[in-house]
Amino acid sequence: MVDHTDTDTRWSVADSAELYGVNTWGAGYFSISDSGDAQVTVSIDERDVSVSLMDIVAGMRARNLEMPAVLRIKNVLDHRIKVLNEAFASAISTGGYGNVYRGVFPIKVNQQCHVIEEIADYGARYHHGFEAGSKAELIIALSQLRDTDSLIVCNGYKDAEFIDLGLYARRMGYPCFFVLESLSELKVIIERSRILEVEPLIGVRMKSSVKVDGHWSQDSGDRSIFGLSTAALIGVVDELRAADMLHCLQMLHCHLGSQVPNIRNVRNGVLEACRFYAGLVAEGATMGYLDLGGGLAVDYEGARTNSTHSMNYQLEEYCVNIIESIRETLDPQGIDHPVIISESGRATVAYSSMLLFNVLDVRSSEPLALPAVLPGDCNETLKHIFDVLNVVGTGNFQECYNDALFYRDELRDMFNHGRATLRERAMAEDICLAILQRIATILPSLARVPPELENLPEMLSDIYYGNFSLFQSLPDMWAIDQLFPIMPLHRLHQQPDRQAMIADLTCDCDGKIDNFSTATGTAATMPLHSLREGEDYILGVFLVGAYQETLGDLHNLFGDTNVVNVAINADGSFDFAREFHGDSIADVLTYVEYEPKHLQEQFRKVAESAVRSGCISVAERQQILRAFHDSLNGYTYFEHH
Ligand SMILES: *Cc1c(COP(=O)(O)O)cnc(C)c1O
Repeated sequence: MVDHTDTDTRWSVADSAELYGVNTWGAGYFSISDSGDAQVTVSIDERDVSVSLMDIVAGMRARNLEMPAVLRIKNVLDHRIKVLNEAFASAISTGGYGNVYRGVFPIKVNQQCHVIEEIADYGARYHHGFEAGSKAELIIALSQLRDTDSLIVCNGYKDAEFIDLGLYARRMGYPCFFVLESLSELKVIIERSRILEVEPLIGVRMKSSVKVDGHWSQDSGDRSIFGLSTAALIGVVDELRAADMLHCLQMLHCHLGSQVPNIRNVRNGVLEACRFYAGLVAEGATMGYLDLGGGLAVDYEGARTNSTHSMNYQLEEYCVNIIESIRETLDPQGIDHPVIISESGRATVAYSSMLLFNVLDVRSSEPLALPAVLPGDCNETLKHIFDVLNVVGTGNFQECYNDALFYRDELRDMFNHGRATLRERAMAEDICLAILQRIATILPSLARVPPELENLPEMLSDIYYGNFSLFQSLPDMWAIDQLFPIMPLHRLHQQPDRQAMIADLTCDCDGKIDNFSTATGTAATMPLHSLREGEDYILGVFLVGAYQETLGDLHNLFGDTNVVNVAINADGSFDFAREFHGDSIADVLTYVEYEPKHLQEQFRKVAESAVRSGCISVAERQQILRAFHDSLNGYTYFEHH
């Protein structure tokens, strides 16, 4: 829908694309349509098909699936699996590598049923398997995989029950590996495999001494809490040999950490892992599989650098580096090339999900009631600050800044001592704000901004209140300062005219987004459009498919959002393949051990006693009880009626 009435001829969708960086972080999946909507593009039968996200939103609303909602695009998920597998296949064939790639998806990265089903279903053509870090995840893997050439890799601490399940998977023909986290685990595996008469497939997780850049640099290297020390690794070999089971040791596992932004770290990690691999071969282990764990990064910033939220390499380069590093180490020793496994989670699922929410309200820091002239009888301080407003300009802004704050504080002080009225205080604060606003407009023209004024634009920026909970839907933004790209879904043919930070619905001061990626780095605010009366303004937070969906919590009892899975067709139409209604208030209350029926009954008693005491009529009681019932069964987020 092009709204010609306010199309700005000096602003184009290309300007918006550059401003929001969508052509870099969008990785070809996201862009802006000619009419100014955010759109998703997928390849179907070698043809690009684009769909406006606003059209999908309209379809969601028609189905009573309101904001906030997670939108997943099936085709994007499929495409990620395809490019990952094909990039390895291509590096293998051009690099003359003598074995295959077998990806496994680490379930912890997105356990949602439909995501896992899709990976199992679409991934089968590439024998894409699963990595499970707990019994629950192994149960998911076992129930979803049909293809017995797909691997199951079991990490994490495993009890006898976990091990039995894995051994049964072996019996049913699945290549299911136990990756040892400790020596004590090995004893149970040996014992259970004897009892069940199933030979286990065993892997060992090494501790890499390579330090990686990025957020998880603390967790890499010797201090990693995971993995066997080199001495423990030798212990495993000796124990397996003693049990006459050294032939079961077939895999080396090396996970450098997640979101490894620097290709040099990847290369060094693989080189070290190959030394370990060769060492285990020399010890007489059968080997055959090299699992390089996760770490393949996502360029959330689109910056192509080795900064934490970016990456300085492409997928193809990642694969080629791995192939080359393995050949470089193993070929001189005449060791057969192993099956390469990667547990790429983030890179597989990040792109396919986005969080959509509407903006409920804006708090601007504009003065609300700036007087044109002061009342004649007002106090001296007000007169002084008003004079400052009348003279502030390029030549004296520094002085005016100091004076404005001085007089404002003086008036606050007078108020606190009973010598100024509430109205006078309001006026002084508004005048001060107006002075700061004028100074902020001067700053961009300065060659050098005084340090004390650097934060001024951000202090004066708007706050856009979004209908979502950061804690539920974007937990990594809160927990580890993760950056996600954010862009309006529409009006992108218009120049955004506001600078804003975003606050969520929780009344928590951490429930805000005030760190955004820009073309030149990060900023505390992002450009947004003014709200228009009677019209929704919808923002998308992109690349949220990894880790966000289950790490979220119930802060302020905002529950799971609505979720829709859309499959795009070749003709540009799309199907709502799945839809899930988010938690109702009753749902979230049961999580914290309330019983909705009991709540309703308790409230009925409250209402009944109000009838008895004459506060409300019986008819009003019915109306109130219905409102209570409707709320209990409604969405935990802000609803339009
Ligand atoms: C978390 C994790 C992964 C996934 O890492 P990504 O960086 O998301 O690909 C893979 N393997 C192990 C052992 C993990 O703990």
